[in-house]
Parts: sequence; C-alpha cells; structure tokens
Amino acid sequence: MDSLKTKNSENKITDKQAIIENYINVLAGLSKSMDDFMFLYDIESNKNYIYGNVEEKYNLNKAADGTYTVADMLEIVHPLDRDMVAGGIENIIKGKASSRNSEYRWIDKNGKPVWVKVRASITKDEDGNPFVMVGSVSEEAMKHLYNPLTGLYNKYRLKEDLKNKYLVKGNCYFVLIDIDGLALINLSNGRAYGDFVLKTLAEVLEKHSKTINVYHVDHTCFAVFVDAKNESEIYDFYNEIQNSILEYCTITAGVIPVNNKIFPDESQFYDLAKLTLKKAKKSDSTSIEFFNEKDIENVISSVELADELYKSVNNNFSGFYLNYQPQVKSGSYSLYSLEALLRYESPVRGKVFPDEFIPVLEHIGLIDKVGLWVLEVALLQCKEWRKYIPDLRVSVNFSALQFNDVVLAEKVHHVLEKTEMPGECLTIEITESVSLQGNEQFYQILKHLKHMGIQIAIDDFGTGYSNLGYLKRLEVDEIKIDRMFISGIQEDTYNYQLIRNTLEFAKANSIRICCEGVEDKKELAVLERLSPDVFQGYLFDKPCEVEQIKSFYLESYTEEFKKRIEFIKMLYDFKEKMSVIRFEPKDILQRTNVGLWIVRTNTETGYCEMHADETMENIMGMNSIYSPEECYKFWHSRIKEDCVDYVEKSLKVMSEHDKPVQLQYSWMHPVLGEVVVRSTGIRGKDTDGMIVIEGYHRIWDNIDEV
Ligand code: C2E
Ligand code: CA
Ligand code: CA
Repeated sequence: MDSLKTKNSENKITDKQAIIENYINVLAGLSKSMDDFMFLYDIESNKNYIYGNVEEKYNLNKAADGTYTVADMLEIVHPLDRDMVAGGIENIIKGKASSRNSEYRWIDKNGKPVWVKVRASITKDEDGNPFVMVGSVSEEAMKHLYNPLTGLYNKYRLKEDLKNKYLVKGNCYFVLIDIDGLALINLSNGRAYGDFVLKTLAEVLEKHSKTINVYHVDHTCFAVFVDAKNESEIYDFYNEIQNSILEYCTITAGVIPVNNKIFPDESQFYDLAKLTLKKAKKSDSTSIEFFNEKDIENVISSVELADELYKSVNNNFSGFYLNYQPQVKSGSYSLYSLEALLRYESPVRGKVFPDEFIPVLEHIGLIDKVGLWVLEVALLQCKEWRKYIPDLRVSVNFSALQFNDVVLAEKVHHVLEKTEMPGECLTIEITESVSLQGNEQFYQILKHLKHMGIQIAIDDFGTGYSNLGYLKRLEVDEIKIDRMFISGIQEDTYNYQLIRNTLEFAKANSIRICCEGVEDKKELAVLERLSPDVFQGYLFDKPCEVEQIKSFYLESYTEEFKKRIEFIKMLYDFKEKMSVIRFEPKDILQRTNVGLWIVRTNTETGYCEMHADETMENIMGMNSIYSPEECYKFWHSRIKEDCVDYVEKSLKVMSEHDKPVQLQYSWMHPVLGEVVVRSTGIRGKDTDGMIVIEGYHRIWDNIDEV
C-alpha cells in the first residue's frame, strides 16, 4: 500500500516536471518574438525562469542555474509596492488565486521606476495545489500610462481609473495639487533642481498615510485621491504636505469630493477639478479651494454664453469692444504701450470679463476670428493715438490656439496692410503654454511675425513651465512677470529673489521686463530697486475706455492729465522717503573727481599699459589722445622720483593679494606741478594673459576739508 502511494506521488512529480519542461520549451521559443519578458515560476522549488534579458536593465541576482527566487525578484520592486506584490505571491502559493493580473513598479539600474503589467495563469496539480505559474511582464503596455520623471501614473490612467473605479464606487476626495512658479524655480536653480522638486513632492504625496493613489497629470500638477471624511481633514492633509515641502516650493490645491451622483462623466469631473484649482490659483487669499455646486451652474451658463457669443461674432462682433491698460516706463512713468483687453457686453448678462468668455471662444473655435478683429481695432486705435505720441505702441493678446492656423502670420500681415500700420508698433503677448513648446509651426509663425518688426512678449511669466532654452529659442522681446510674484513683494524675499534672477537673465539677453499687476506704491518702490523696464497695474491705471486714455495721457490741458502728473510727483516723494533713489555712478565719480584706471602687465615681456576713464584723463591733465602703453608711460614718468619704488612695490602687492591696497605718493602734474595722489587698487580678472589691476585715483591736495 505504502509503496503504491510512493510510486503514485513519484509519478505525479515526474508529471509536473514534464509539464514544467514543456512550458519552458514553449516559452523559450515564444520569447524570441516578444518584447515582453516571459516567465515561469516553479512554485515548489521557488525558481523563476525569465526569458528576455532582464539583467541588462535591472539589478537582479541570478542563481547558478540561471533562475531567480521570489526574494530576488522582490529586490527590484519599488519599495512602496513591495508588500502588495509579496502579498499577491503569497496568495498564489496558498492556492487562493488562479490567475495573476497586476501592475506595479520595478526600479531599474538608474534608480528610475518603470511600471510593468504582469499577467499570468496558475496551474494546479490533481490535489488542487498550485505548482507552476506562467506569464508575461510587459513594460510596453504601461508606457503611455505614466510620467517618466516621477514614475507616477499620468492623466490617461487617471481618466481610466476615474471611469472604472472611483466614479463607480468612490467615497473620498480628489485633490489637484499644483507647484507655484516652477518656471522661476527652474530659472533660478536649473531644470535639474526643478525636476528634483517635482520628484520630492511626488514622494511626499505618495507616502502620506491618507493618500489612496497619486497621479502626475501635468508638468507641474499632481492628482491625489485622499481618504478623508470631511473638508477639515483635507485642510490637514494640505497643510501637512505643504509643510513637508516648504523649503522647496509652495503649492496650490483644488479639491472636489468624489461622488458619482453629481459627476457621472470622468472628463467633466476632471474639468471641474481643474476649474476649482484655477480658482485657487487666481485667489489672493487662499491656496486651497473647494468645489462649489455653483461651479456646475457656471458650466451650464457657459453653454448659453457660447450660443450668445456665436451670434455676436456673426453679427459683426456686436457687443465686443476693447479697453486699454497703460504700460509705463520705469523711472519717468511715461506711457510706453497700451494693452488691448477684450470686453463683451451681453444683452442678457451685462458686462462679461475675458476670463469667463475667452475660454468659451477658444472652446467653440471662434478665437481666431475674434483675435484678428481685436488686432485690427487695436491697430486702428493706435494709429489715432500716434497723432499725439508718435512712437506709442500697442500690445495685443494672442491665444495659443491661434497658432494652430498655418497662415496666421499672413493674416496678421494683411491686417497691418489694411490698417496701414507698421509691424514695429505692435507687441503680441502670448501666454506660456505646454502646447506651444517644441511646436515647429509655432516657431515658424513667430519667425515670420518678427520679420515684420512685430515684438513678442511672454505673458503671465512664472505661472507655466518655461525654461531658459525655450525663451532663448523664441527670441522674445519682453517678459511679463505675473502679478502672482509681484503682489506683496515687499514682504516676500523668496519672490524678490526669483524676480531678481529673472531680471538678470533678461538683461543678459536684452529682453525687456514688464512687472504686471502693480497695485501698491510700496511694491513699486521695492521693484524699482531691480530696475525693470516697464510697469503695468492698477497703481497707474485700470484698463480704460478709449476716451479715458485720451484725457489721462494725451491731452495735457485736462484735469485728469494734471492729476496724473501730480500723482507721479507723489510717487517720487514717496520713493525718496523710502530712500530708493537710483544712483548714477558715473556722474558722481566725475563730480567728485575720482578717476578710474586699469593697469595691465605682461610679466614675461615687461609690457605695461594703463586704461584711464574720462575723469582720470582730465585729472591727470592729459591733453591729447594716448595709446594705453603711452598712457602708462605718461603716468609712470610723472611719479616723483623718490616715490617710484614705493608705487611699484604697491602694484606688486596688489597683483599678489586679493585685498585692496591703498597708496599715497607725489606726482608731477603737467599744469598744477607737484600734487599728492591717493589711489586704491585691487587685482582684477586677468585678460589676454596679462595681470589686471584696477582702482581709483584722486588728487588729494585740492580737496576742501571741512
Ligand atoms: P492678461 O493678459 O494677463 O491681462 C491682464 C489682466 O490683469 C487684465 O484682466 C487686467 O485687468 C488685470 N490687471 C491689470 N493690472 C492689475 C492689477 O494691478 N491688479 C489686478 N488684480 N489685476 C490687474 P482682464 O482684462 O480681465 O483680462 C484677463 C485675461 O483675459 C488677460 O490676462 C488675457 O489673458 C485675456 N484676454 C484679454 N483680452 C484678450 C484678447 O483680446 N485675446 C486673448 N486671447 N485673450 C485676452
Ligand atoms: Ca496680456
Ligand atoms: Ca498677464
């Protein structure tokens, strides 16, 4: 009896081995024509056979017979997914599952997460015990579903999950979290740092105990399903996340409860969440905004608005008109340009603002038509105003969608011709948009526009995802720094630093800077220290009606014009009190007779030269033009004999130390005779292989002492 039993079980074992060997043969053949990794897991001996070269990309420990244990496999699973994967395998071994269908992350040799889709079927023996699992691991199936930088699921996956999971049976909150000003962070610290901030936030979000799932939906934006019962718990969640990441960035959140009764459709649900985030972004008072039922009414109302706008456009743009907001030059506050801002007066709802109707115009495909209409009206208006200020400019906003039109540049050219206006009077403002980056057609259109003399401004700078390379390639003429970074600048050293870096970049690349949304004279005073070129904001003027522009800026006899001049005087007084007066170093040096010099020496040949600025030439009494070598000789030959050694020694000390060296010596002035000269010099940056020393020079005995 006993021996029969043993025989039976031996048979079973050899049967199993035969089955396994058979599978192995099939898999080895199949895998040659597959991108996926095929695998077989021999459960009883804990051996994984993998086909395809996994070790090329992943750090896997292989046993001598070329197989891997479950523990080896778990080594390359993302730490946050490891428990889930181990649990799944445990269930298989215990016979609780008959197939495997799972998605999780492996970590490759570079430490980057890679999503894989695992599908497998399990074969059981006659006693119902699982003994082999055969399947495939696919990287390809997941590639379009996650963001390669953070390794988190992307927008497409989010929509699938919303549809199949959360909107079917969800009882949690959906939170969109956006990093503020990532573009400026990139600009200040480099793109690699920006990527680091994104990855850090991704990690913080994923590790939070209330997080159910995280998605990286857009460059700067993450979506999180949060296990919370009420809004107060969401506030806590938001604050905890913000605190953990505070040293790198600030974040804004839009929140919406997951509830299939109100939002049956995943696209609508997602759009409403984006709308809520947008509200939070715009708000000055809060960084987190909750979805409001009224927002749905707004969506319905925009459908009605679309209908109205459509009729208006076809009725010769009835109801549309333009306001103009002045941009003033920094320092003089004189008018530089006028930005055309579109308005719509609805017969039903009264005055409607562009933030409401521009997206609708874009949505229904009318923005091209309306955009060109705005351009024409603004150019004609500018033509009229140029009778008063001949070099006055006008700025017109173009939507990113308008650049989908291949012949946009030709159409703009046509409007210039029709209005008989030169391209040079026009600035086109474009908001940074992901859709424009890397878009060849967009670059081509810009090139044509620039050929016509038109200038290009990047609008709302800092709110999107621009980087230096992008701005350089676009050859933009102006950057408009968004109000978000301007408001409250006097209290915000972080934003101040960001703007300062942007300005340095802009100056180095001859790009004009406009600070938008200046509302307060303290903001102005702080910003002026950074010397941007242009200001725009309520402090100077709100968007004005055509007639107002005339009386405020063009006709000097009006009360309004005089009031504005008074206002500018008040600004000057205020700035003086804030002691932000601009220095004119050249004038000050000239008036106090401080001459500047640079001495360059070639130590090998003994050649020396001196470069003297205008003031230095004057105070040395030089009356003709000297070459740098002659200039050095002129100066050197007039050092009083008994001081020559001392002066030369001082120069030597300067060239050998980093510190400034001061000296005082007698010098034979061609007109004044013997004078005492004081000079301070310091080693500069070597040029042309010569040692450079630079400093100032002044005649000491003709200074009045009090
Ligand atoms: P934008 O181009 O950034 O225009 C500036 C907006 O900021 C204007 O709002 C202006 O009224 C407002 N603003 C200016 N100074 C201040 C300030 O000191 N404080 C505050 N709080 N706000 C200030 P508006 O006129 O409602 O325009 C909103 C947006 O609509 C514009 O933003 C622009 O993106 C879009 N837009 C307006 N006209 C057009 C157009 O003709 N075509 C296109 N495509 N978009 C347009
Ligand atoms: Ca603008
Ligand atoms: Ca703007």
